[in-house]
Amino acid sequence: MREPGHHRHHRHCRRALARLMLLPLLAAAATLPATPPATDAARERMVAQQIKARGITDPRVLAAMEAVPRHRFVPPAYQARAYDDTPLPIGHGQTISQPYIVALMTAQLALERPMKVLEIGTGSGYQAAVLAHIVDAVYTIEIVQALAEQAQQRMTAMGYDQVAVRHADGYAGWPQQAPFDAIIVTAAAAYVPPPLLQQLAPGGRMIIPVGSPFGVQRLMLLQKDADGAVRSRDLMPVRFVPFTRQ
Ligand code: SAH
Repeated sequence: MREPGHHRHHRHCRRALARLMLLPLLAAAATLPATPPATDAARERMVAQQIKARGITDPRVLAAMEAVPRHRFVPPAYQARAYDDTPLPIGHGQTISQPYIVALMTAQLALERPMKVLEIGTGSGYQAAVLAHIVDAVYTIEIVQALAEQAQQRMTAMGYDQVAVRHADGYAGWPQQAPFDAIIVTAAAAYVPPPLLQQLAPGGRMIIPVGSPFGVQRLMLLQKDADGAVRSRDLMPVRFVPFTRQ
């Protein structure tokens, strides 16, 4: 007689205990970020070892690189390598740049709120997302329609409302939104497209890889002063995918 009663009581206690233990677990699950902890740690390591260690100190750039989940911008097959020190394929023969290059180019633009930035070469949208953490408005143009559409969807899904994506040849810039406080070109051009320089505001900065599209290019920083004169500086050798024309 006592045995089953005991058993029932025991079982009941166990169930109640299980329920009690489940409650805080459920509460914790509800407040956890969508990102698995492993990727947060990998991203922190990426910023420390690939970016800070190489001399990038702008706190806005570091915070942006820490915030943007790069693994959500690469195809599933490359997600495990999203925080590696390397560019990765994103389809259509294009690549997402190495994290250090994204950070370096962003830092060279000396961005702050409430600036307006133009990017040529949306690709995955990763660079645009990094910019969106620092400035108020990002306009980005991609020549490959499928990439432009995918990036736009990704921006919307991730809540980057301050990023506008357009499918076009970026050579002509985005005259309706000009002038821009900064312009970043993430494909290798043989020369600086004059419309882009024209759409750069006085006091603005533009960063662009210039040179042979299939070899090594020079990463150039152009600064337009208050009366429109342009100075340029050669920062370093880089290797980008080609700037193509429609
Ligand atoms: N910034 C991107 C990576 C850029 S790869 C990222 O964060 O993922 C360079 C991109 O420039 C490619 O997607 C390529 O299709 C695009 N591109 C090349 N020529 C272009 C042009 N004339 N106008 C707009 N985009 C161009």
